[in-house]
Amino acid sequence: MTVPRLRELGQGRLLLDLDFRDTEGLVAAYLLPEPEGWTLVETGPSSCREALLAGVARAGVSPEEVRHVFVTHVHLDHAGGMGAVVDSFPKATFYAHELGVPHMVDPARLVASARRAWGAASDRLWGTIAPVPAERIVALRGGERFPIDHGELEVLATPGHARHHLAFFDTAIRGVFTGDGAGVRLEHSSHLRPAVPPPDLDLEQLFASLDVMRRTDPKVVLFSHFGPSPDGAADLMRYRTIVEQWRDVALAAAREKGDPEYVAGRLKAYDATVTAASPPTEGESIISSYALAAQGFLRYFETRGLLGRIPK
Ligand SMILES: [Zn+2]
Repeated sequence: MTVPRLRELGQGRLLLDLDFRDTEGLVAAYLLPEPEGWTLVETGPSSCREALLAGVARAGVSPEEVRHVFVTHVHLDHAGGMGAVVDSFPKATFYAHELGVPHMVDPARLVASARRAWGAASDRLWGTIAPVPAERIVALRGGERFPIDHGELEVLATPGHARHHLAFFDTAIRGVFTGDGAGVRLEHSSHLRPAVPPPDLDLEQLFASLDVMRRTDPKVVLFSHFGPSPDGAADLMRYRTIVEQWRDVALAAAREKGDPEYVAGRLKAYDATVTAASPPTEGESIISSYALAAQGFLRYFETRGLLGRIPK
């Protein structure tokens, strides 16, 4: 493991690259100075624990100074490492959405659902998932505010990608930490890609949550995959259109054949026409995979009765 990159974002805020799969620029965490020490946004997966701790050390932050740890949602690439750092940050309080907290305390269902989605590769990708002691984690619903240097961190309920998804608004830099709520936009890429996995994708909620984030009038949008976007507010605008386009392709495919692989293939073929000039990188197709998008859409269509009877 190389010591991960750090980047200054203004007002003392820092971006940590967690070097997921020894690859730069896939999974981010953020450190924000606050009155009692430091606030961490996202832990990343358990497999990135060493990189996270090395990044915190490189920032000159002692483990005792990490006082508040927030995750946008409990999917393993954002929060899988929480249980693994509970002892590393002995003075920290951990936070997740109230619907996500039970899965942090008992991660059995998270692990099972990751194994369904990722198959045999799951454990290697995400690492060993340790439970978070119930007394160390606090449930959020949206609307809470926490002091950070020069301002506040405001919790925004942003369901859609998952029911328990949160975003965080940093009033000092007017930055929104979008988690997966505004899709995936890797550094040096102009592609904004859907993050629409199973099991509880809800497109109506997702679109409403984009409006919630837009209403903060952000100057900068900070993706967990990955980093600050140079045109964040515009990304929030265009993400809805991109998801609608993928949805339409997936629905047409699913009505022909309700098979996830078939739908994934159609999404990939469609995406190839859109990104012909600069095909998606390997990193982009890992973080925003066609297979997961197909599964997410199919489940969404099925639960809403949009498919009718379909030939298998
Ligand atoms: Zn993610």
